[in-house]
Amino acid sequence: MSEYALEDPTFLDRPGEACGVFGVSGDDIEAARLTYFGLFALQHRGQESAGISVSDGENITVYKDLGLVAQVFDETVLAGLPGNLAIGHIRYSTTGSNSWENSQPVFRHFGWNAIALSHNGNLTNTAELAQATGPLAATTDSELMAEAIAREMTEEGMSLPDALSRTLPSFEGAFTLTVMDTTTLVGVRDPHGFRPLCLGRLDDSWVIASETAALDILGAEFVRQVAPGEMVIINDGVLTSRFPFDPAESRLCIFEFVYFARPDSTLLGQTIHKARQRMGRRLAIQAPIEADITVPVPESGIPAAQGFSEASGIPYVDGLVKNRYVGRTFIQPAQSMRERGVRMKLNAMRGVIEGKRVVLVDDSIVRGSTTKQLVAMVREAGAREVHLRISSPPYRWPCFYGMDTGDRSTLLAAGRSVDAIAEHLKADSLAYLDLDHLIEATGGDADTFCTACLSGNYPTDVPVTDGKFLLERSK
Ligand code: SF4
Repeated sequence: MSEYALEDPTFLDRPGEACGVFGVSGDDIEAARLTYFGLFALQHRGQESAGISVSDGENITVYKDLGLVAQVFDETVLAGLPGNLAIGHIRYSTTGSNSWENSQPVFRHFGWNAIALSHNGNLTNTAELAQATGPLAATTDSELMAEAIAREMTEEGMSLPDALSRTLPSFEGAFTLTVMDTTTLVGVRDPHGFRPLCLGRLDDSWVIASETAALDILGAEFVRQVAPGEMVIINDGVLTSRFPFDPAESRLCIFEFVYFARPDSTLLGQTIHKARQRMGRRLAIQAPIEADITVPVPESGIPAAQGFSEASGIPYVDGLVKNRYVGRTFIQPAQSMRERGVRMKLNAMRGVIEGKRVVLVDDSIVRGSTTKQLVAMVREAGAREVHLRISSPPYRWPCFYGMDTGDRSTLLAAGRSVDAIAEHLKADSLAYLDLDHLIEATGGDADTFCTACLSGNYPTDVPVTDGKFLLERSK
């Protein structure tokens, strides 16, 4: 039976997020339990596998499996993970396939100590690293990193921070990490800071997480973002910081603002939800249209639709209903259902749409298949006109930094004009938010962001043909 997941981002026409990482260290804490709740808050960043590594001061235990956090862990499992230091990971595969072996944290044991590593992002020099590391059972770039760090630590007495300082500069691309040995917790952001990482305080404990929402759920106080190129080290309750890389320009992924981060998280001092509303307001000013109702594509399009409605004066109406209980399934829908698959997730309300000129607002279009079905569905529900408004620019270039968007041939906007896209989607009109306006809405400035998938300007060298199965193919 083939696998097919309704929550699979490719099914929902969303770029797949590349994972969430977490770490906690303190005295007399249930580190694994805290990590469980931290991962629970980060579940939107990956739904394929979940894992926790915990240290009791002498040994590291790793528990991981395919599935959602709440499916992988229960009371019995958590009770078997005692310790005051833990890291966690939730995964969406961007390098390597979705298998147990590729789930994280990655563990390496080397005689006198052991390490565990959680990774969010994608390396861009995986092939070179694999060649340098030699043959080993690694099917992900994360395993390559763990192997390189562990080899450095085979020298007895080498500390984890020193091994990282020596190893990290050889990694290129996007890597936000939480790493631990039996006594030390380390958080790392690559020199461009593609993926976010924040630091929090929970009583006397330190918490590191991909997003601030994970701190909120634990009741931890936000201290600050970990800076691009920074390594924060927590040992014996004391936090120190190092910058092991050559300085580089900050390039936070702008899609964290558009789609990936939780609306209740903050980045660059901005609440994500408010930034998304500002995107909608700017879109209404940039691309006005005469219409009767503003309808969001739930849930991703809701804040932008709110902003659009507010700025345009076109009333906001929940015209699409999301089935919240679909969950994750591995049942393959019949082909006939698959073609109309979006209806399993979303359905249009004829009662509010019929006879109306509809502005349909969403945050992005990647492959376009879902959007096309949505336009058709809204028409079938009796809309007189369907105008699409997208709160980010056309997604034209593949991401090499941890978002799974497939290659260029799968991107609807690659090589197509906006008019041609509108025609393909059978929309009466289509407009995308300009990049300048998007950046303005984030509250950051242009120099802060990676916009490669929207602009084609990659901040680093990128591999020419690497796919996510590079290491598996070469085995
Ligand atoms: S290419 Fe796009 S999705 Fe990838 S890191 Fe850059 S902005 Fe984010």
